[in-house]
Formats: sequence, C-alpha cells, structure tokens
Amino acid sequence: MPVASKPAAQRLRITLRGAVQGVGFRPFVYRLATEMSLTGWVLNSSAGLVVEVEGAPDELRRFEQRLEAERPKASVVTVRESEWIPVQGSTTFEIHHSDTDSAKSVNVLPDLATCADCRAELFDPANRRFQYPFTNCTNCGPRYTIVVDIPYDRPNTTMREFELCPACCEEYENPANRRFHAQPNACPVCGPKLDGTIADTAAALRRGEIVALKGIGGFQLLVDARQAAAVARLRQRKHREEKPFALMMPSLETAREYCEIAPAEQELLESQAAPIVLLRPKSGSDIAWNVAHCSPYLGVMLPYSPLHHLLMRECSFPLIATSGNRSDEPIAIANDEAATRLKDIANHFLTHNRPIVRACDDSVVRLTRGRAGILRRSRGYAPLGIRVARNVPPVLAVGGHLKNTVAIGIGQDIFLSQHIGDLETVEARQAFERAIDDLCRLYSFKPEAVVCDLHPDYASTHWAEKSGLPIIRVQHHQAHVAACAAENNVEGPYLGVSWDGTGYGLDGTIWGGEFFTVENNQYERVAHLRPFGLPGGDAAVREGWRSAASVLFEVLGPDAVDSPVRPMLERKINVVRTTSVGRLFDAVASLTGLAQQNRFEGQAAMLLENEIGSLHTEEAYPLVSGDWAPLIAQVLRDKQEGLPIPRIASRFHNALVNWIVEVAVTSGVKQIVLSGGVFQNRYLTERAAALLESRGFVVHTHRQVPPNDGGLALGQVVMA
Ligand code: ZN
Ligand code: ZN
Ligand code: FE
Repeated sequence: MPVASKPAAQRLRITLRGAVQGVGFRPFVYRLATEMSLTGWVLNSSAGLVVEVEGAPDELRRFEQRLEAERPKASVVTVRESEWIPVQGSTTFEIHHSDTDSAKSVNVLPDLATCADCRAELFDPANRRFQYPFTNCTNCGPRYTIVVDIPYDRPNTTMREFELCPACCEEYENPANRRFHAQPNACPVCGPKLDGTIADTAAALRRGEIVALKGIGGFQLLVDARQAAAVARLRQRKHREEKPFALMMPSLETAREYCEIAPAEQELLESQAAPIVLLRPKSGSDIAWNVAHCSPYLGVMLPYSPLHHLLMRECSFPLIATSGNRSDEPIAIANDEAATRLKDIANHFLTHNRPIVRACDDSVVRLTRGRAGILRRSRGYAPLGIRVARNVPPVLAVGGHLKNTVAIGIGQDIFLSQHIGDLETVEARQAFERAIDDLCRLYSFKPEAVVCDLHPDYASTHWAEKSGLPIIRVQHHQAHVAACAAENNVEGPYLGVSWDGTGYGLDGTIWGGEFFTVENNQYERVAHLRPFGLPGGDAAVREGWRSAASVLFEVLGPDAVDSPVRPMLERKINVVRTTSVGRLFDAVASLTGLAQQNRFEGQAAMLLENEIGSLHTEEAYPLVSGDWAPLIAQVLRDKQEGLPIPRIASRFHNALVNWIVEVAVTSGVKQIVLSGGVFQNRYLTERAAALLESRGFVVHTHRQVPPNDGGLALGQVVMA
C-alpha cells in the first residue's frame, strides 16, 4: 500500500532482558502493536524478548514508551536495547516461534501466586475450571518449579506430559486470551489430576491428623494450628523441638483476626511471591501455644495456589504449613520420594501428577525499617537475578554451611539459588550439588572459578576443593558486608559491620563481631569484639551456657564457674577463641536465666530481643571498644539486684548500638553497611540505623537477600 502522505516508515528492534517470559509479554506486545497499527513481530528467544516494529518514527517512540509503561505486572526488565534497522515493508504483526540458539540470558521467572481472575473462576460454578486445583494463566502459576530448560515454553516444562485439549489449545493460541502461551495451561479435561480429595483431606485435618500435601515447590506438612496435641505430634515426628512453624490462613480477614497487619505487610501477604510474613500476633487467639513457642512473631502466609485456595475454603481455620521433610533434610518433591520419606510423619497424603522439577521452600519476609527484608529467599523470589553496579566475573559461589544458597555471576546479574538449607546431612549435600548443576545448566553457565568460604570444614568448601576449578577463598564476614553493599549498589568507601554467630577468621579464630572499612575491594578490620573462649568449640553454638561460663571465668575468675567446662577453661584445652556477637548474646541470655540452649539457630538472641517488648529506654551498659567485661559485670549486678529482664535486655542491645556508633564516628566513613545473622534482630537493626542516621550516616541494610548466611553467596561472587 502506498504511504506517500505519511512520513517514511522506519523499523526498530527492541530487545528486553530480565523476567520477561511466562508473564504474557508477547500477547501484550501483540495487542499494543496491533492497536497502534504497527507491523513486525515479537519473539521469545533464549537471549530475551525481541520485538521488531515498523511504522512512523513518532509512533515507534510512543510504542517504546508504552511498552515500558504498560508492561505486564509480573515482568522485570533489567536490560532494554533499541536499534534502528532497515525497513522490511512488513504488513502484519506476528508472534514468531521461540528460537533456541542464542546465548541464554533470560531470567527464569519465579512461581507466581494465583491471580484474582483465576481465583474468581475457581469458585465460579459456571466456569469450566470450577474447583480445578491446577488452573493458572499468564499472570500466575508455577514457573521455576516446573521449568526443565529455557526458553520457557511448554515442551521445556513438566507440563509437556499433558496434551492440551481443544478448548485449552484455543486459549493457548489466541493472543487476545489471558491464557495465550500460558505454558502450564490446563483444565479438568486435559490437565493434572489430584490423587485424593479436598474433602477427605480437610476432614483428616479436622481430626488432628498430619497431612502431606504436594504443593508448588514440594510437599508441605499441614496440621490444624489450634490443636496442641496434633502440633506436638508433628514436632516429635519431624524432630523439630521449638523452632516456630508457619501458618497458612484461609484469608486476609482471618489473618487479621490473629495478627496485627500493617499496610506494607498486607501488600507482602498479597504479593505475587506470597511469602511467609512475620507478623505480631494478637493475644487471646486459639492458636496452640506450641506453634511458635516464645517467638514474638507468627509466620503467616495466604493460599498461593488453586489447590491451597480450595483446601483453605474447606478448612476455614489456620493450618500449620511447614516444609515436607524431617529437620535438616531437603523438602520432598516426588510422589514416591514423599511416600517413603514422609510415611512416618504424615497420616494422610494429598498428591497429584504434575511433576515438580526442583524444591523451593516457602520464603520468609519481615518488615524492618519499614521495608520488606527477606530472611529466607526461595519460592516466589528465586531465581530472579540481583543486579549489581558492575560486571562480575563468571564464577560460581557455593555459599556457607548453614542456610546455604549458591550463586552464579553473569554480567551485572547475580543469580542466587533457592534456599537449600544446612549442609548437615547427605541428603542436603545432594540437594546442594543438584542446585549447582541445575543453575549452571539453566543458564548454560560454565564457571571459570569457584568461590568458597575460608572455613576448611564446610561441606561447600569440600565440594569446591574437589570441583577441579580454580578456587577463590573468601572470608566469611567480608562476604556478608560485600553482599549487603552489592545489593544496595554502595559506591565509595564504607564501614561494614559484620556480626553473626560464627565464621572462620583470617587468623584462624572464630569471628563474628567485626568492623571493616572497605574501599576498592580492600578490607581493613578496624575493630572487633574482645575475644573470649568457647569451651567445647562447636558445642557452644548449641549450648549458650558455655559462653556464659567463659565470660564469667574471665570476669570473676575460676571460682565463679561451677560447671564441667571449668577444667577446659583453666587448662585452655578444647577452647577456641571467638569475637562472636552471637555468642555474647548467648552468654547474656544464659546469665539472665532466659535460655541455656539454642534449640534452633539464634533462639537465645531472639528471646532476649523479645524481652524488650515495647520498653523504651536509653539506658545502656558500657561496651567501650568492644570490651564486654564491664558489661558482663553490670549484667550480674543488675540480675542480683532483681532488675527486670526487659531492662537488662534493653541495656544490652543499646550497648551494642552505642558501640557501632562509636566505631562509625572514629572510622570517619559516612556509609555504614550492616550485615550478618545478628542483624535479623529487628530492635538492634532499627535502633542502630536510627541513631546512625540521626548523626548523618547513610545506613544500608539487606532487602533482597537475607542478612544471615543465606546471602553469603552473593557477597562471594562480588568479592571474586
Ligand atoms: Zn491467573
Ligand atoms: Zn484442557
Ligand atoms: Fe555468617
């Protein structure tokens, strides 16, 4: 057709990278281009989403703007490139088939919670997907847990086993349909099926039975959260003493009956990631006491798959929803695997025939400093990339030993695996190896080197040593602050405060109360906690009274210590030196009589923080230059004089914050980075940030990765 009256057509090629597949991007581009009467095509390639559009230059510019402004909600665009190319005189706009040749640099999308449209259909008796537990669309549904390879297309997912029926096929091929190229598209005729019924499962739960449910990222163990005896049974069978369980609530309204929910928390609960959000429980609820024990928080999530929606509609009471495993083991994903591994735990199984490719636990998030902070990064977040300011070398980082995650660096993106867990069991170490293979294969990634912790005995270090790749060893606490600095794009010198339970120091002792000034990847350890001995080494991690005995020994002398570790301390046998703030928390918690043991990592510290409650005081113990001796002496005096524990706890926390401010002022550096497991302590983090900010410092804390060892791999990549 002649276009003489119009300005000469031009052709633009736009490439988008990031999380752009499986979110309805192609139909969106198709609709936009068609609506604007532009011609050309859109293509999903393994290098990203490529669009070529032809038309008047002004229109093309407007197209670019609208592409950005109106793109699908679930998409994340990290790179956008545009170039002018020769006009081809195309007359239509088409969606081309995926090409599989180009370099793989497309983010695999995380699993997305059921959208409002699908939810409405699920409960609409007139809809053909009424009560169908596997409904989804381009805006929602499983992604990462069903994708075998990229590009993200049905034959590359576990849905390849299900042939689309004519009705589903039509939706799948119609660009105007919400299910256009929804890879897991399914219906009761052609899709996955439940093995068992919702009604039987709900009945079992009401009877107090333990149910193993095949969810999105693996099996979950469910139990009525109101029945203490049932909860106790679950704890005993799962070998989980006191670590709090998370709850799934039937609805936001029910969640509100049990917990205080701020607007930002509601947003998190209802987000596409649908994580477990740590909320303040209301008093007087019927949640059994042994669900969260003494924890100040209840971990709460909302139903995030159609199966969960159907079950929660039937139950209408809070359920414990915890990962389907025995403590320290990875979550079960396959039906036969679950049948063996969970048979001694669950009374009732509800499974289905849609295979899960990789395990993904529920993520855990909490508001800190008024923003979301991820404490466990898994379903809904993994494997989204974290974009950093500079290109990173193509390395594989294998993380730490506890709360392990692994990561790879591609250009400016660091892809962190889902939470793998503590590498204590053979099963966990196998899961760790699978996660490495998996991540590398998905991104066709060949690491040039492997980065691991300095600790010689971590399972991840052992793996690195056997990998045959060049090894880069990175100090644990430096990696912590590097991770936090990287995710916040910190430029220029900063003071890194790295506090945690234990990590291997550069001098062979156990660190955990460190300050570094960092500039151009040079780390100078400018301050640290006064060291003390850990009698029995690793045993002290679980038994906080050992740290207490040690500080007593040093402050008051041998006669003050009436315990089996006294000979060790006297002869300095089997005593490792540490600067760990986490262990100092243990010592103080023990001396106040709050906790003698950690039944899960960080329990004593959590109890001590919890004591503060709503108490506001500026009182603080002395902790000048990190010398805890005067602090311990005063804790003992306060305890003797019967000072209430909340005040002791406050004085202790405030002392730690004052010390941070002291070091910050002396350092002469304006930017402060707080990292390490100790900063899961909300009181400590928020008070430190507030005090530092009031003195003109810029404070960076974690948001996208956990402050605990789950964020270590990110720091390792950056430091390589
Ligand atoms: Zn949907
Ligand atoms: Zn169908
Ligand atoms: Fe650590």
